[in-house]
Amino acid sequence: MTDLQAILDGIYTELSPRIGEGKVADYIPELAKVDPKQFGMTIATVNGEVHSVGDAGIAFSIQSISKVFMLTLALGKIGESLWKRVGREPSGTSFNSIVQLEREEGIPRNPFINAGAIAVSDVVLSGHAPREAIGELLRFVRYVADDESITIDDRVARSETQTGFRNFALANFMRAYGNLDHPVEHVLGVYFHQCALSMSCQQLAKAGLYLAARGSNPITGHSVVSPKRARRINALMLTCGHYDGSGDFAYHVGLPGKSGVGGGILAVAPGIGSIAVWSPGLNKVGNSQLGAVALEMLAARTGWSVFGD
Ligand code: GLN
Repeated sequence: MTDLQAILDGIYTELSPRIGEGKVADYIPELAKVDPKQFGMTIATVNGEVHSVGDAGIAFSIQSISKVFMLTLALGKIGESLWKRVGREPSGTSFNSIVQLEREEGIPRNPFINAGAIAVSDVVLSGHAPREAIGELLRFVRYVADDESITIDDRVARSETQTGFRNFALANFMRAYGNLDHPVEHVLGVYFHQCALSMSCQQLAKAGLYLAARGSNPITGHSVVSPKRARRINALMLTCGHYDGSGDFAYHVGLPGKSGVGGGILAVAPGIGSIAVWSPGLNKVGNSQLGAVALEMLAARTGWSVFGD
């Protein structure tokens, strides 16, 4: 049996001198206030083991990691017809790029870049008031994590609403091309609140377990999605989960993963477990710098890369 706690402790000790590396996201004023000198990591296995190290109990802004949960909800709502609204190819551009969206006439490349996620939020919004769609997401995340204490940080949502000019531009573009059914303010209200979900590594690793365990949470027994859907969400995370850093993440880590500008990464080792890591300092493409290093160390020490050990 691999001693996962010892592996986590080893990674933490080795990375300790580097904690604080990278640059916190400052385009969202509330996130600019976060102390970069923090690092936490949790592994939740399909056998029900949970191991943590460092600041794994501190809640942080999960930002774009929420796109995985929203995608799960949207696929549950309209199934494969979602793919008429958004593509499934890596973008090779930054998460908030506008150029590609205009060239491709309002159809975002994939559900994990901002434009794609905004279209996905529009789908989840249909038939609801914005407040209800946010409630649906919060209930879903609490259900998959089996944790009723998860909340949304309204200050982060407000901060981003006041400064999210690029997201307003992306949403307006899509609305002009007929790829948003609801008013831009409503869709972005949902989008900014989903990004402001506040979760710890412990909560996030548990929430991601259904992706590692063929669509069901093995701890609670809750069936969330079919094995086929879990596999496909993992495929999208592998190819698109780190924006224009996705190839590099696959090369170094070799696991499906989704990053957020709060400095979190959710990674999935199919059939084995789900891993959450958080360190607020980001690299140039907006992914957690030390988070990716820690996952690379974990994959090397466990042989969990989907491409072989
Ligand atoms: N809320 C952020 C934004 O829309 C999410 C981006 C991210 O985490 N990469 O800009």
